[in-house]
Amino acid sequence: MILIKCPYCGERDQSEFTSGGEAHVVRPKNPDSLSDKDWGEYVFYRNNPKGIFYERWVHSHGCKKWFNAVRNTSTDQILKVYKVNEKRPDFSDFENTLKSPSGEPSVGSGNFAVKK
Ligand SMILES: [Zn+2]
Repeated sequence: MILIKCPYCGERDQSEFTSGGEAHVVRPKNPDSLSDKDWGEYVFYRNNPKGIFYERWVHSHGCKKWFNAVRNTSTDQILKVYKVNEKRPDFSDFENTLKSPSGEPSVGSGNFAVKK
């Protein structure tokens, strides 16, 4: 059982939450000036790193509020949760958590998607 700490309600079972994908995706300021290709990339293309990832979650079977989480996709460990209006935590705060469960190093193991 994975527990997720809603910043409004506290720890709850993962089944109460729904992932909203990558966090901090900024909407283009002038969408009318974008090409179809650029607009398509904004709408559909998301990062999918192995390692630290900033995600949006909603407590869909609870308070129904959105929040952000920092999750290590290698270990499925949620490292921090924060409200949408709070400052994004710095990547360097979590660099020491990048080892995989097998102890695989984050560099030199085909883990090229991990970046700051
Ligand atoms: Zn909640």
